[in-house]
Amino acid sequence: MEDSFQAALQSVHESTLTKLAQAVTEEELNRLKIETLGRKGKLTLLLRRVRELPPEGRRQAGEQANTVKQELEAKIEELLIHLHDEGKRQALAQEQLDITLPGTPLPRGRVHPITQVMARVVDIFTRMGFQVEEGPQVELDYYNFEALNIPHDHPARDMHDTFYFSDEVLLRTHTSPVQIRVMENRHPPIQIIAPGAVYRRDSDISHTPMFHQVEGLMVDEGISFAHLKGVLTFFVHEIFGQGTPLRFRPSFFPFTEPSAEVDIGCVICKGEGCRVCKGSGWLEILGAGMVDPEVFRIVGYDPEEITGFAFGMGIERIAMLKYGINDIRLFFTNDLRFLRQF
Ligand SMILES: [Zn+2]
Repeated sequence: MEDSFQAALQSVHESTLTKLAQAVTEEELNRLKIETLGRKGKLTLLLRRVRELPPEGRRQAGEQANTVKQELEAKIEELLIHLHDEGKRQALAQEQLDITLPGTPLPRGRVHPITQVMARVVDIFTRMGFQVEEGPQVELDYYNFEALNIPHDHPARDMHDTFYFSDEVLLRTHTSPVQIRVMENRHPPIQIIAPGAVYRRDSDISHTPMFHQVEGLMVDEGISFAHLKGVLTFFVHEIFGQGTPLRFRPSFFPFTEPSAEVDIGCVICKGEGCRVCKGSGWLEILGAGMVDPEVFRIVGYDPEEITGFAFGMGIERIAMLKYGINDIRLFFTNDLRFLRQF
């Protein structure tokens, strides 16, 4: 009886170890665990038989069977943990992202050429001490025209092709109303630029219904045309390059006296004469002049004490000359092939 118990125990022990060595899945191991150590498992049944053994060998047989049981339990547990970890590791290896694959390229945005030129212009003037001021784009007739010495019957109104909301409310046709708003609220010295969008009912190769201007104003005691010339010369050399020739040509604006238009040497032909400059060798880039005493009277300054200059330029025009663009509408048609060049 005792010998047959020993033989049975050894047989279960060895066959289980053999099967364990061959088991490769968790299912196989679990099945083996039930077959051997489960409630009706081979080893469990064997252990029950211990109490039927003769008393003298019972204790030793029990100890042997328990040792085998503990060994097999530990072995199965160890293999299960190993398989579990291995399964995880393999799953992770399979799910791994291939970070060497090229991604989907995202199109990169860039700053619009008009915004770039505007920023450049603002930078040049702020370095000379000009402060940036802004005003409303929906403006009163008073600020857009009347306070700038352009009364209702003035012929200059025809030049502006204004968008009106009513008799008194309109879309500003230039950034000049900002200078009135600033002078109304401040005492000299004043040194400002007013960048922003303006509107005129006009559309062709050199006009768009909306475009951008920068207005400049410098007002104090003793400001002269020489100051105006110095400021604009510095500006032209900064934006178009040192040595760019410029000239002041007499002109007329209702809110400046005397007035001038400023030309630069043609950037295309360098003064030789071409289609762009219509053979003259010069290109007009801005209007300027000394603030008309009448404008000072309107805002309550004494023109006997205070003098000043004002200038205004179109940013699109500067950008077209700077980059050799021949159609202003290209700035607003959002053709990416055009915009990506800047
Ligand atoms: Zn030219």
